[in-house]
Order: sequence, then C-alpha cells, then structure tokens
Amino acid sequence: MTRKDCCSICSKETEQGIYLLRVYICTSCEKEMIETSADDPKYQFYVNQMSKAHRSMIPS
Ligand SMILES: [Zn+2]
Repeated sequence: MTRKDCCSICSKETEQGIYLLRVYICTSCEKEMIETSADDPKYQFYVNQMSKAHRSMIPS
C-alpha cells in the first residue's frame, strides 16, 4: 500500500513528494520553487503557501 499525501502548494495528491520544513510538497512544485528567484512575485506565493500549511499543522 502506497501512501499519498497532498501537496501544500498545488493540492495535488502524489507519492512523488518531499517534506520541506515538515510541509509536504510535490516534486514539480519543489522544482519550480527552486527555479523561482526570490524577487519573483511567484516566490512570495510559495512562501505564503508554505507558512500557511506549516501553521495549520501545528496543534493548538
Ligand atoms: Zn505541488
């Protein structure tokens, strides 16, 4: 049985992902994130999604 997790950026369910700061992201989002420069507005979007996901998983 393979466990699928939901990507915190694009909400896609995939086994092909990694945990980044304990937030699950798929490999395509990981790749995009790496290729996006920090002054790109898209980068801020990734950061926002990451911190939102990170916050929501912390109990109480
Ligand atoms: Zn993704």
